[in-house]
Amino acid sequence: MKIICIGRNYKDHALELNNPVPSTPIIFMKPSTALLINNKPFYYPEFSNDIHYEVEVVLRICKNGRHIQTNFVQEYYNKIGLGIDFTARDIQRLCKDKGHPWEIAKAFDHSAVVGKFYSADQFDPHNINFSLIKNGDLVQQGNTRDLIFDFAYLIQYISSRFTLHIGDLIFTGTPAGVGPVKIGDQLDGFIDKNKVFSCTIK
Ligand code: ZN
Repeated sequence: MKIICIGRNYKDHALELNNPVPSTPIIFMKPSTALLINNKPFYYPEFSNDIHYEVEVVLRICKNGRHIQTNFVQEYYNKIGLGIDFTARDIQRLCKDKGHPWEIAKAFDHSAVVGKFYSADQFDPHNINFSLIKNGDLVQQGNTRDLIFDFAYLIQYISSRFTLHIGDLIFTGTPAGVGPVKIGDQLDGFIDKNKVFSCTIK
């Protein structure tokens, strides 16, 4: 399986990092070795001093497909969850400065926290409320109505370049409020009032 991630898909987040709002989706991938599931702790890696959380709605692909048209997209994902796209912001800054790819800052082991999944048909894809609580404080809050590229557009666009397989995950982008973690922090992700994941930084 592969993990496809979308960068700068909420305007308020693009602006908080002084990035332009994109006119086409910004795509990068993480390998399956990036997955961190079952509420396991995240071990702070020694290669970075500035690991950031980014909470994101995650889609799970349930049907193989390529060149999927937007009006058929609902057939291709059946689960919606929430995760964290952990980012080594210091390394990413170096990559950006040099014009290098981001993988080294984004795709490292256990950088993709994924929590529980819920049946997609219980959500309006344009009105999913989600949030991240750090040590009891609300640090990120988003709603998919604010996506620059919605789920249908993303799946159409991604599948025009990369064949989607059952089990592939799409991280749909983070809203404003990203920030650093330190050892001992506790991150809890919510969709509405439902706790979707917990992650302790060790
Ligand atoms: Zn992200």
